[in-house]
Amino acid sequence: MAETLFSKIINREIPADIVYEDDLCLAFRDINPQAPLHILLIPKKAIEKVADATETDQALLGYLLLKAGDIAREQGYADAFRLVINNGEAAGQTVFHLHVHILAGRPFSWPAG
Ligand code: AMP
Repeated sequence: MAETLFSKIINREIPADIVYEDDLCLAFRDINPQAPLHILLIPKKAIEKVADATETDQALLGYLLLKAGDIAREQGYADAFRLVINNGEAAGQTVFHLHVHILAGRPFSWPAG
């Protein structure tokens, strides 16, 4: 897979405000926050988008959801947060390295825009 902005953040080629890291994932603050809390959680494995994940990624995808909840809780937003995964350009994906948006700290309307 081609290098992306996010693989460069993983490799420390460009800076980011990192809030969590382990062997499998990295979480950092979105550069253009859409809520008081806006963190991007990415797997270190380069998967372009969630639709490209395979059965071998099943545990990793579950891990990301659990970790997203942990991060929201650690950041003080255990009660209400929104997770968003944009899949594909028409759905709003601009960086083609799978990422979970963790948003919190304001009311969220439904349906999502
Ligand atoms: P998406 O539109 O779902 O692909 O989300 C990409 C997100 O990456 C957007 O919310 C951008 O604001 C964010 N973003 C782009 N460049 C950076 C960067 N250098 N550091 C942190 N977040 C970024």
